[in-house]
Amino acid sequence: MRLSSVFGIIKMAAVIVLLLLGGLIAFAFLKPGPQDVPWTALRLGDPVGIFTGRKIAALTAQREQCIGLLRNAGLVVEALPPLRLSEQCAAPDRVRLAPGQAMLVLSPTSVAPSCPVVAATAVWHWQVLQPAAQRIFGTSLREIEHLGSFSCRRIYGRETGTWSEHATADALDVSGFVLADGRRISVVRDWSDTGDKGTFLRIARDGACGLFATVLSPDYNAAHRDHFHLDQAERGSMRWRVCR
Ligand SMILES: [Zn+2]
Repeated sequence: MRLSSVFGIIKMAAVIVLLLLGGLIAFAFLKPGPQDVPWTALRLGDPVGIFTGRKIAALTAQREQCIGLLRNAGLVVEALPPLRLSEQCAAPDRVRLAPGQAMLVLSPTSVAPSCPVVAATAVWHWQVLQPAAQRIFGTSLREIEHLGSFSCRRIYGRETGTWSEHATADALDVSGFVLADGRRISVVRDWSDTGDKGTFLRIARDGACGLFATVLSPDYNAAHRDHFHLDQAERGSMRWRVCR
């Protein structure tokens, strides 16, 4: 073997060793939590990390695993039987939160979105909304008010075109929030507020973006002036991914 090629091999090995060392040092310094690395199991009580949204989206069609995560996080949930009205209007994966558990209240309580939507809503409540309510209003968040989940219709209720994520219960329309002291923050009334309520709503919208596949707020269009549309459309599919 020629001397130059031996040097070449040594040089390449040195570069690889340096890269590995650099990676290890970066890992030790940054101390990423389980939410920041792709290979750890999702836990809904962990802070939101780079991979949280992707891990929640991966729960689609993983019904048992998803329900297990909700229960491990302390939620009492009822797994509802699949609902099938037609080919397009079918919700195989609905779960309903048992009423009377303060850690996550959707109002009205009868709503039964798909499990990944409930999982994302739980993380949103615990990691985004609750800290924001404490910081801004000095009190906790009691309820998320919504306009429903399952609805057998196309987007915007049109006669033709793409079916809505609501047709599979893979969406939730959130209209407002109620604090522990009874104060209400409403999307339609407070979105243009320049004070605390408007700030809270913007933090809520922006914080939903890493957790849901699609987030539409009053900034998106007039059809969303009174609610946030949050859905868990499969990422990487034909569906667009919007956060606005
Ligand atoms: Zn919607």
